[in-house]
Amino acid sequence: MHRQLWYQDGLRFSCTGCGDCCTGGPGFVWVNKEEIQQLAVAMQCADVAEFERLYVVPVGNRHSLRERSNYDCILLDPDTRQCRVYAVRPRQCRTWPFWDSNVETPESWERTCQVCPGSGQGRLYQLAEIESQRQVIRV
Ligand code: SF4
Repeated sequence: MHRQLWYQDGLRFSCTGCGDCCTGGPGFVWVNKEEIQQLAVAMQCADVAEFERLYVVPVGNRHSLRERSNYDCILLDPDTRQCRVYAVRPRQCRTWPFWDSNVETPESWERTCQVCPGSGQGRLYQLAEIESQRQVIRV
């Protein structure tokens, strides 16, 4: 049984594919060892070391995908504005927008809806589904 949460009746989200969540201000997209291995294959790198050299930056004891100078994700195609690794995108991208920081309060969800046109509209996600996505990675 889930404790009482403000989004007890679910939240709506249907991605429009605008790509805005892969851009914007500076930030981190955390990747673990398994994700790096999958991404290296998807990007047709010779090996994991090559992928890390080109696309990953260490942050403390964690690893994040690099950003371009305009803060676009390095794996966002600058011409098509599509994710180049969508099928194997990291947990952090898969679970957007159901992150702790986005659903913490109605106000934080409202801010999320302002930066993501897919949030707050479309498919209704039930509480259990939101909670299971929220627990995949804490961001
Ligand atoms: S900002 Fe929202 S609607 Fe746009 S691509 Fe990202 S998840 Fe989809």
